[in-house]
Amino acid sequence: MSGTGTQQGRPAQPDRAAGLAASYDVIIVGAGFGGMYMLHRLRALGLSARVLDVASDVGGTWYWNRYPGARCDVESMQYSFSFSKELQQTWSWSERFAGQPEILAYANHVADRFDLRRDIQLETRVTAAHFDEQTRRWTISTDRGEQFSAQFCVMATGCLSTAKLPEITGRDSYQGATYHTGYWPHEGVDFSGLKVAVIGTGSSAIQAIPVIAEQAAHLTVFQRTPNYSIPSRNGPMTPDYEGPWKSDYERRRAKARTMRTGILYGVENETWGLNNVSAMDVSPDERQRIYEERWAVGGTAFMAAFNDLITNEASNDTAAEFVRSKIRETVKDPETAEALCPHDYPIGTKRICIDTDYFETYNRPNVKLVDLRKTPIEAITPKGVRTTAGEQAFDAIVYATGFDAMTGTLMSIDIRGRDGVELREKWAAGPQTYLGLMCAELPNLFMITGPGSPSVLSNMIVSIEQHVDWLVDALAHMRANGIETIEPRADAEVSWGQHVNEAGHRTLYVKAASWYMGANVPGKPRMFMPYIGGVGVYRQECDDVAAKGYEGFVLTRGDERAVAAE
Ligand code: NAP
Repeated sequence: MSGTGTQQGRPAQPDRAAGLAASYDVIIVGAGFGGMYMLHRLRALGLSARVLDVASDVGGTWYWNRYPGARCDVESMQYSFSFSKELQQTWSWSERFAGQPEILAYANHVADRFDLRRDIQLETRVTAAHFDEQTRRWTISTDRGEQFSAQFCVMATGCLSTAKLPEITGRDSYQGATYHTGYWPHEGVDFSGLKVAVIGTGSSAIQAIPVIAEQAAHLTVFQRTPNYSIPSRNGPMTPDYEGPWKSDYERRRAKARTMRTGILYGVENETWGLNNVSAMDVSPDERQRIYEERWAVGGTAFMAAFNDLITNEASNDTAAEFVRSKIRETVKDPETAEALCPHDYPIGTKRICIDTDYFETYNRPNVKLVDLRKTPIEAITPKGVRTTAGEQAFDAIVYATGFDAMTGTLMSIDIRGRDGVELREKWAAGPQTYLGLMCAELPNLFMITGPGSPSVLSNMIVSIEQHVDWLVDALAHMRANGIETIEPRADAEVSWGQHVNEAGHRTLYVKAASWYMGANVPGKPRMFMPYIGGVGVYRQECDDVAAKGYEGFVLTRGDERAVAAE
């Protein structure tokens, strides 16, 4: 029986009475950046912990998403841990935006450097987590038939970790090779000489399409909704860029933690990239100049060109029209260019994409765009794809069709709290959390970057560090005060949900049928799941809650006396 490893000199104790494999202070689900950092911090606190992950190695999203062209849209100097000065000084990134292999190598380096692997159990899927009110502990079950007992359970399961295949008639009848960008084969795929179809035009597709097009004999892209994409202007890391970052890392990291997205743009001139004026308050010429400047620099800083692009429709229209003009300028065939122009949602309200030569790829003779708004898919057939315009045969189909985001993975685990309350039922009308960290009736169960926190709207590593640091402080507080359980009050959860919802409705995000809204999964409740208040504001809100004695939480001592928040 596995699960009897040792932690920091604290042997995991078999819980024979309960017939359990092993007992830990904390079980962490997920060995991505969130799970690894959590483990590192818990060790320093002296708690025993075990990480469980279904993958064969660490890295989370960067372990699975190995599709051609996979790359982070946050610059490498910022998409990295800040908790260790030595780590951030000694690691060198080779590009402005690191590719998936390099980020995965970094994740492995972190695992080795901090000796994390001895407490990580791989190829283990967590199937259930049940809270026992008698023992006030969680029992965590896996697909290996093991059970672990833990006082705390930390779900570091990622926001985009359940890949989603489209519901298209006949999908399983196709006889060629199929791939999903989110579950790419580790040995890679050679498309040389093949006729390939890509279904979907989100961030993953926009990165994969130019690379696949270079290799395949022919590529057909099936597009339902066009996307706004900004050139990344990726390039090799230079000493001139890296040097100032490394010599000023502490100050820049501290500043990034206060920003809305947890990202600094344009640090060279110390503006931090925020142009704090409305797009409506400058002349059309000045607006154009600013957009051109941001387009030339590349990356998601484009969306910070003005301070009201996600709140003011008129301002947003100017940015959207600028990008459409760039698409028309780039794509030679006017009909294809027009089909690639998004019109029916504000720019930035579906995740803004960044690319390398995406629109240029449609000028290649071996690439064709099928506009599914004009000729929808009727079925996947044994040979290929049939639209209302007829059937086309393919050697391979790539599904770049996204994820059951933010809730899919948590809802796939049978999580039951107090009185057998099931997370699946509790979230049937949409996720409800307090601070995106915990749910009422699920004591001692935490989420890293859960719904209701900035998570997917931010630099994930900044948000992961903030969540883990906050949690570790909470656990230290509990230990120091003899507190056994922590759990949000139901009314605190309701008010936080209202706050998240109101914040979302103050923006244009709610106007898009996006995965942020749950709109990409049939039957999923529509609500804006992440918290748009901003990374800096949210950090302050979490810190205030802790400073007020964990306001909104019920803390209970071993003798079952509730400890009231001050
Ligand atoms: P996505 O943004 O959800 O895109 C899925 C695509 O598949 C959409 O174009 C969607 O069209 C299409 N689709 C879904 N079902 C379909 C159907 N039945 N028929 C035709 N088309 C269908 O997924 P993703 O591209 O994997 O990206 C998900 C998120 O992962 C991103 O938003 C981003 O947060 C993250 N990501 C980040 C990076 C990066 O850092 N650079 C890279 C990749 C992914 P509709 O829009 O019409 O639904």
